[in-house]
Amino acid sequence: MKFVQEFREGSAARRYARAIAAITTRPWTLMEVCGGQTHAILRFGIDRLLPPEITLIHGPGCPVCVTPLELIDKALAIARRPEVVFCSFGDMLRVPGSSGDLQGVKALGGDVRVVYSPLDAVALAQRLPEREVVFFAVGFETTAPANAMAVLRARSLGLRNFSILVAHVLVPPAMEAILASPRCRVQGFLAAGHVCTVTGYAGYDRLARTYRVPIVVTGFEPLDLLQGIYMCVRQLEEGRAEVENQYARSVRREGNTEAQRVMAEVFEVSDRQWRGIGEIPQSGLALRAPYRMFDAERRFGLTVRCAAEPAECIAGLVLQGVHTPPECPAFGTRCTPETPLGAPMVSAEGACAAYYRFRGPPEGRGRDGDYR
Ligand code: SF4
Repeated sequence: MKFVQEFREGSAARRYARAIAAITTRPWTLMEVCGGQTHAILRFGIDRLLPPEITLIHGPGCPVCVTPLELIDKALAIARRPEVVFCSFGDMLRVPGSSGDLQGVKALGGDVRVVYSPLDAVALAQRLPEREVVFFAVGFETTAPANAMAVLRARSLGLRNFSILVAHVLVPPAMEAILASPRCRVQGFLAAGHVCTVTGYAGYDRLARTYRVPIVVTGFEPLDLLQGIYMCVRQLEEGRAEVENQYARSVRREGNTEAQRVMAEVFEVSDRQWRGIGEIPQSGLALRAPYRMFDAERRFGLTVRCAAEPAECIAGLVLQGVHTPPECPAFGTRCTPETPLGAPMVSAEGACAAYYRFRGPPEGRGRDGDYR
């Protein structure tokens, strides 16, 4: 198959669903890790195609959602400074911090700009030598190589007015934290295909072995997801717990070694807070010593005092698959995309936003296409 449409073909999807039903003999709960996969599942009604024994729960793979409140507050404090041009991907602008969001800072005159690449922010720093240009480096292993490249480029250009606010998180430690939790419901994982494009999947072998859980590297189109679910259910039914690769057209076992090299040159692994979840050891990235001159936290010497998260928001439990968004009492009533209480209702990869968009508020109906 060469074109996207071929991965969305309804009759093939229904054949896969029948094949999954044919091999399913008991209830299984699977977690798709990535928020992009969650959106595809809701958008195309994949969950509604599955036999009732299969429950899909949604994972922590939305980088915007897991960026800790404290870092959002630091971003707000930096963006409010008159000498700063604060650059971010658009998704981060409406994520609530303790005292508003980046959009609000912009509305009050802060120089907050949406960029499409960290290299755009480097170019901006070149053009505006009298300003401090800060890039909000958010994301998983997928965005870290480009951010590392931006730091290397800034260094090669000798820029002293460019820095990054690092909020990188790593997927495998979060999967392990979920598996180690006494509340874990996950029996099989659909691992995020794009993360594995960079990292490969050899690193998942230990997780699969230790926790006796099948892990299937899975893509993002409907037929990818259905095939990933089929492979996962087949392992469970056969009593296997292995790492398999559904997304072979993009992912190699060793991943993208050049991207890994660039990441490792600039970043080192560090402990990291996850919004709503708490600290996960060795689950983040920090700038290595030779590159700390590009660390915005150091440059601006910030200490911020965070307010507590809104008590109503159960985003942490949603991100760990303990609850689904409709189980949140505020879903679609006090929390909507227009008035979000938590990041998963804002982000384009947030599970709450996916349910709201494709299934509607509590009294609503499905809006976009599914295969029914
Ligand atoms: S629906 Fe809103 S309040 Fe509830 S978990 Fe999601 S973001 Fe938080």
